[in-house]
Amino acid sequence: MHSPGATLGVMGGGQLGRMFVHAAQQMGYLTVVLDPDAASPAGWVAHHHVQTGYLDEQGLAQLMQRSAAITTEFENVPAAALVTLGAHRPVAPGADAVAICQDRALEKAHFGRCAVPCAPHALIDSEAQVGAADAALLPGILKTARLGYDGKGQARVANRDELVAARRAMGGVGCVLEKRLALAAEISVIVARGADGTMVHLPVQRNLHRDGILAVTTVPAAVDRDTETQAVQSAYRIAESMEYVGVLCVEFFLLTDGSLVANEMAPRPHNSGHYSIDACDVSQFDLQVRTLVGAPLPVPRLHSPAVMLNLPGDLWTRPDGAQIEPDWAAVLALPGVHLHLYGKTQPRRGRKMGHLTVTAASAAAARETALRACGILGIEPF
Ligand code: ATP
Ligand code: MG
Repeated sequence: MHSPGATLGVMGGGQLGRMFVHAAQQMGYLTVVLDPDAASPAGWVAHHHVQTGYLDEQGLAQLMQRSAAITTEFENVPAAALVTLGAHRPVAPGADAVAICQDRALEKAHFGRCAVPCAPHALIDSEAQVGAADAALLPGILKTARLGYDGKGQARVANRDELVAARRAMGGVGCVLEKRLALAAEISVIVARGADGTMVHLPVQRNLHRDGILAVTTVPAAVDRDTETQAVQSAYRIAESMEYVGVLCVEFFLLTDGSLVANEMAPRPHNSGHYSIDACDVSQFDLQVRTLVGAPLPVPRLHSPAVMLNLPGDLWTRPDGAQIEPDWAAVLALPGVHLHLYGKTQPRRGRKMGHLTVTAASAAAARETALRACGILGIEPF
């Protein structure tokens, strides 16, 4: 095990990196972040910020020289960079696992290998495949195979004409056409796996998306026990078969017929696991630190029901376009409110500026307080 006092490196300086840095520092580790942005959320709080591109040789050399072990906080870190780093330092998760998660086609093939069902789909790499795609996949959602997030790189298509137009609008890049499914709910599971194969997971969480972006996470998820067990076992199989080391999130759709299908996975902590900082005795970021340094992985325990609300940049903008500051004093007056802001200075629409976790003695009380916070901040109630 790398003992406290060692320096841990992170590829990427976003909010996930920032919360990793907080967890690492709390345990006495030093941190170094590589990110090209001078004002990155994690760069602000790390001991060192290597401000270069992700493929910059000197930047990668500096990161390696300072770090005992290296992790990543976003899935689109170039695989080549992880290969370079992995040749000299322990890197978790490894380049192979990240490469699978970066590509929806590889990801779906991996789900298949693990006997985890996913949405009916077809790969669309050419104009010919548009014509050949099974009509049963329509109405569907066309998703770019790579580089999509927060609903970006996606288009809902009702028929073949719309499919042709959407593919053109995406510049003809490799895509996956997925059948649009009737969702009863969305849930996700966060698994941590150590280098010795030990696996633990956070409680299953229920997620509400708006416009393809996560808006609200509720824990406990209030789904039946069989569904929960199926989700956790699927996530374990997925992690195990990649020989994954680190924190992995698997998103699932619960369909109206009661069946469960995997949507996608993220090779890192996930927005839907942020509640664990305030509501669990071990957070997803603590688990990321522990898997990286080779520390034991205790079974996480939810000590409070929780509701997490994302705080998008929209909340900083009035309908007439004027900039405002949300009424933090009113929100902080509510019981069990934990405010997390990521230090981003430009509150653009749809940009994740922070989140709010409400913990309470009961799920009903957490929901009631979260709804009051929604009222104060101008978030649509859930
Ligand atoms: P993330 O921010 O999680 O990375 P993403 O941009 O990669 O998001 P997905 O998770 O694929 O996108 O989709 C975003 C949301 O769109 C889902 O959470 C779900 O609400 C909806 N969605 C996606 N695929 C389908 C589908 N096949 N049928 C119905 N709804 C879907
Ligand atoms: Mg998603």
